[in-house]
Amino acid sequence: MAATDVLKPDHAANRRHFIFTDEHEQLRESIRSFVFKELRPHAEEWEESTFPDSVFRRMGELGLLGLSYPEQYGGQGGDYYCNLVLAEEIVHSNCGGLAMGIAVHTDMATPPVHIFGTEEQKQAYLVPSIRGEKISCLGITEPDAGSDVSGIKTRAVRDGDEWVINGSKTYITNGHRADFIVLVTKTDADAGYDGFTLFIVDMDAPGVIREERLRKLGMHASDTALLAFQDVRVPDSAVLGEVGKGFYHIMWELQGERLIGAAGAVASAQALFDKTLQYANERQAFGRPIGKFQVTRHKFAEMATKIESARQLTYTTAWRFANGEYPVREISMAKLYASRIACEVADECLQIHGGAGYMKEYGVERVWRDLRLNRIGAGTDEIMLDVIGRSFGL
Ligand SMILES: Cc1cc2nc3c(=O)[nH]c(=O)nc-3n(C[C@H](O)[C@H](O)[C@H](O)COP(=O)(O)OP(=O)(O)OC[C@H]3O[C@@H](n4cnc5c(N)ncnc54)[C@H](O)[C@@H]3O)c2cc1C
Repeated sequence: MAATDVLKPDHAANRRHFIFTDEHEQLRESIRSFVFKELRPHAEEWEESTFPDSVFRRMGELGLLGLSYPEQYGGQGGDYYCNLVLAEEIVHSNCGGLAMGIAVHTDMATPPVHIFGTEEQKQAYLVPSIRGEKISCLGITEPDAGSDVSGIKTRAVRDGDEWVINGSKTYITNGHRADFIVLVTKTDADAGYDGFTLFIVDMDAPGVIREERLRKLGMHASDTALLAFQDVRVPDSAVLGEVGKGFYHIMWELQGERLIGAAGAVASAQALFDKTLQYANERQAFGRPIGKFQVTRHKFAEMATKIESARQLTYTTAWRFANGEYPVREISMAKLYASRIACEVADECLQIHGGAGYMKEYGVERVWRDLRLNRIGAGTDEIMLDVIGRSFGL
């Protein structure tokens, strides 16, 4: 081999990460083609109207709502990385609210049903969820308790062979459209972390009230609900998992949610980077493309380095998670770092676009607004830092 060949940097090399196989790449292509054909063209419209429920049914038909669930429940029997592929590709819908609404269904509300549910619950809720015939939501946050999950006030009290639920939940994604909610309640106020229980509650049960549709900074294509539960009676069979173990169940759920959030944040940052790179090559100022100013070149270098670091951290952590480890520290790091750098990248990309970045037409301001949620939802930056810090015994 000639010395010149050996020394030539291979910038265009696009070798896939070792966690992905040919099958994952085929899946990636087919999801991307669906997203470009059937979702992306509606992004603007859905910002105004929220995305329609029919998206769930369509994705169910395509097998995209149960990629890693067993075939016996209608899933595709794939591995955890398939969920990462979906989270990454749905970003190309240009519709953050849609990506979030789907992720809540596939990676937040249904995993506890799959892991902790009885066979009857799986048949009644998981199977139709995978088909896109039932839509799910997850109720943890309350008006008086978000980060401090142990401070929730929603109570479930046993009454004969039923439970009576009272309380409220807020900021609930899919809350207006959902058919059922995976609900975190307190069942024993004196039992500390052993006093929580999860329930599956039908959203049309008497006493479930969908209050206002909350207005928000970004993620406009999603619906966000304030919910009230007034003497909602559910049978004992509505308990999800073990009575008293709900806190641990939901902490388990949050790990998958955070990792998927990290993958989505990295993919969003990458998509915006690519779009901005093209803009920087085309937009001229002072007789040259703006990308040719050293200050702009360095901005891209900084962004690319951050994106790549966040991606590696997310993939390696996913590899550990998929191989049976429970790497809570690294999941928290991935969630924290990916969310932060995605916001930084979005801000820098908006700056590079100049006035165009501020205009709706270019779609940059929307990503900037949408991504801000990542530093808050599924555990804030501060909570991630606390989890990481405490993991060192501090
Ligand atoms: C658009 C959107 C969608 C959402 N979807 C859902 C959903 O589907 N289901 C659901 O259950 N929830 C959902 N949430 C809620 C979200 O998970 C919470 O907003 C988040 O966990 C933070 O809780 P909080 O808003 O009560 O903030 P708080 O807990 O009140 O925190 C306020 C501030 O105090 C800081 N803080 C709190 N505790 C500490 C501490 N110990 N150390 C240092 N700082 C601290 C926080 O970091 C934050 O900066 C959603 C939120 C939004 C905005």
